[in-house]
Amino acid sequence: MDQSIVALIAAIVGEDGYSTSKARTYTYGFDASIYRGQPDIVVQPRTTEQVSELMKVANENLIPVVPRGGGTGLCGSAVPIKGGMVLDMSRMDGVERISVADLLCVVQPGVVYDDLNKALAPYGFFFPPTPGSGEACQIGGMVALNASGMRAIKYGATRDYVLGMTFVKANGEIVQAGTGTLKDSSGYQLARLMVASEGTLGVITEVILKISPKPKSSAMALAAFPGPEQAGEFVAALIAEPLIPSSLELMDSVSINAVNQALGGPLPDCQALCMVEVDGDPMIVDKELAVVKEVAERQGATTVETTHDKVQMAAWSKSRQAVMTSLSSLRPGHSSVSLADDMVLPVSRIPEAVKAYQAIAERNGVTVATYGHAADGNLHTKMLIDPRSEEQWLAAEKAVREIFQATIELGGSVSGEHGVGMSKAPDFILERRSALSTMVEIKKALDPNNILNPGKLHQWEEDGLLGPLRYPCDPKSVE
Ligand SMILES: Cc1cc2nc3c(=O)[nH]c(=O)nc-3n(C[C@H](O)[C@H](O)[C@H](O)COP(=O)(O)OP(=O)(O)OC[C@H]3O[C@@H](n4cnc5c(N)ncnc54)[C@H](O)[C@@H]3O)c2cc1C
Repeated sequence: MDQSIVALIAAIVGEDGYSTSKARTYTYGFDASIYRGQPDIVVQPRTTEQVSELMKVANENLIPVVPRGGGTGLCGSAVPIKGGMVLDMSRMDGVERISVADLLCVVQPGVVYDDLNKALAPYGFFFPPTPGSGEACQIGGMVALNASGMRAIKYGATRDYVLGMTFVKANGEIVQAGTGTLKDSSGYQLARLMVASEGTLGVITEVILKISPKPKSSAMALAAFPGPEQAGEFVAALIAEPLIPSSLELMDSVSINAVNQALGGPLPDCQALCMVEVDGDPMIVDKELAVVKEVAERQGATTVETTHDKVQMAAWSKSRQAVMTSLSSLRPGHSSVSLADDMVLPVSRIPEAVKAYQAIAERNGVTVATYGHAADGNLHTKMLIDPRSEEQWLAAEKAVREIFQATIELGGSVSGEHGVGMSKAPDFILERRSALSTMVEIKKALDPNNILNPGKLHQWEEDGLLGPLRYPCDPKSVE
């Protein structure tokens, strides 16, 4: 990067607010996805005004800018594939206001999810989305990806809690969107537009979030099934009762084996299982737990365990959250890679989807683990491959494209919570064909020089999804 531009940036954030060192910029080339890039400079602003000044410099000099939260994204959204400036928001990490009477809090984007809930706990409130990465991901990243997690079925996703925000446009203009009120019918919902925009429309510098009272009690059931289809049918039957659990996680046999191998067998040895949590008033919790057990048995569960014990519940939840990391230890020399990792379907189509994904895996000779937040239709499929083998990457890519196609045919979408980034871009483009030109117009209006996170979403330029991979066999690797 030109030294005169570095000097302009230094004048805005000070000498300790940026780095061009090869080692530091290298570490900002990755997120938790399969991709890598190489930024020219990493900048750590402390205020909205600094972000505004930085954007003016970037816009005038046509420097790509990638805002970055915790870097835990799974589809490459925060990877700087065009170089330029990574804007690390982690120094803007203040919880500015908690107002229980107004049911809201005001936070800076760099606040880590778990830290926000620690700050809300003494008031008896929480911010519910519960991503599995809660100890590291930041509010700005969650808003920019519309993150959610196990509790989305009952409590919704991040978008359902965003009341307002401050964001900085590509030209440095500061915009206050939305309000500090629970309702708002005053014109375009610009804060909503920023949700899931993946850093392509503006830099979020403050967020007003709705908060929820913490449930008084909870209980869990663990139901084992002879196969994933029966587990999928149980999910649909439970919701049809009607019963909305606070979470309902499905795991197939590959996921169960991986966790049992890595953690020493905490889960029943079966073909598929559902982990159900109910929460609320203690009397309602007991009634709902009994319904869960009855429906699971009616739908062919081979065993159903229930518990109110917090230690047991934490152990079950931990084993579910361990799926992703456990998969990599299942087969020596193989790694679990995030490819088709968070498709969302109408809940009634889950049994068909699970069956279709298994057939696709077998047809393409790849190991696929299917698990996820089944009650809101959100399934994760992780591929287990030898990342040094180009042949296996190509087989995985083919399987992924078929999984996306099957999902779209079943009325679903390529991403329910992780975003599009790069790994889902080709199929996102096919899925949202009729909305693409409107998206392009919005992008041009807010970022005419295309400096904000270029090359992502509808701007993806590769044929398939194997872009600049972080693995050694990658022919397209960025040097
Ligand atoms: C082990 C593990 C478990 C996970 N479990 C879940 C889960 O259960 N549910 C789920 O939804 N996701 C999950 N994820 C994915 C990921 O953690 C979430 O999507 C999370 O919201 C990303 O937040 P982040 O702060 O790390 O964002 P990053 O990865 O840093 O960035 C993500 C995107 O947000 C943009 N961005 C970041 N900050 C800003 C800002 N201030 N202004 C504008 N744009 C910004 C970036 O440019 C990028 O496009 C998981 C990831 C891992 C590694």
